Amino acid sequence: MPQESNYWLTTVEMPASLRQQLPESADVAIIGAGFTGLSSALALAKLGVKVVVLESETIGWGASSRNGGMVLTGLKLGVNELISKYGRELTRRMYAASLETIDCVERIVKEENIDCDFARTGHLEVACKQSHFDDYARQAEVIAREFNHQLRIVPRHLLRWDGGRGQRWPQPGTLRCGTGCGRDAGRRGDF
Ligand SMILES: Cc1cc2nc3c(=O)[nH]c(=O)nc-3n(C[C@H](O)[C@H](O)[C@H](O)COP(=O)(O)OP(=O)(O)OC[C@H]3O[C@@H](n4cnc5c(N)ncnc54)[C@H](O)[C@@H]3O)c2cc1C
Repeated sequence: MPQESNYWLTTVEMPASLRQQLPESADVAIIGAGFTGLSSALALAKLGVKVVVLESETIGWGASSRNGGMVLTGLKLGVNELISKYGRELTRRMYAASLETIDCVERIVKEENIDCDFARTGHLEVACKQSHFDDYARQAEVIAREFNHQLRIVPRHLLRWDGGRGQRWPQPGTLRCGTGCGRDAGRRGDF
């Protein structure tokens, strides 16, 4: 009978001894030890703020330990849709923020020496239909013009699928990034 187990949780050792007792007081209480809570706790603790992170399960219990581990550029919606919804200026700022988040992740991984195989590999978005491909090409033009960010459009005949060789998905470092962040937040404050 095949056994099912969580890939991330079975390939990572969870931090053993994080504090169980609540401190008497704290400047900031953060609820949830996912990427959002942990990175906020880390940033605040570095500024000397007394932070407590409250987690009902364990570090990275939620989406932070169950994702693809991809640190991508851009936003969920296409740029043309974003511009028509939010205008050029706000979209420009949101797009710039999406690029900054990659630097932010890289900075935290380096500064905290987190062993999570972080790498800037680029990423490939594959169009399923010609109309999607045409839309990608139009978006790439807008992104280059408006946000000064270059994307490469790869035509079908140059796209070679190697069956995933050389790809690592799901990324094994995902939970190690969370647990590493948790260890560092724990070292610096209450957890
Ligand atoms: C299947 C999947 C794939 C994804 N792939 C990607 C990807 O490749 N790249 C990417 O950038 N993003 C991806 N995401 C999104 C990304 O994982 C999330 O945006 C991110 O992890 C959110 O982090 P978080 O800290 O805000 O929330 P969470 O990681 O969900 O953390 C919330 C924490 O709060 C705790 N909590 C909740 N309520 C309470 C309470 N009342 N008291 C105490 N603790 C509480 C939970 O137990 C949990 O640990 C993916 C998400 C999913 C689900």
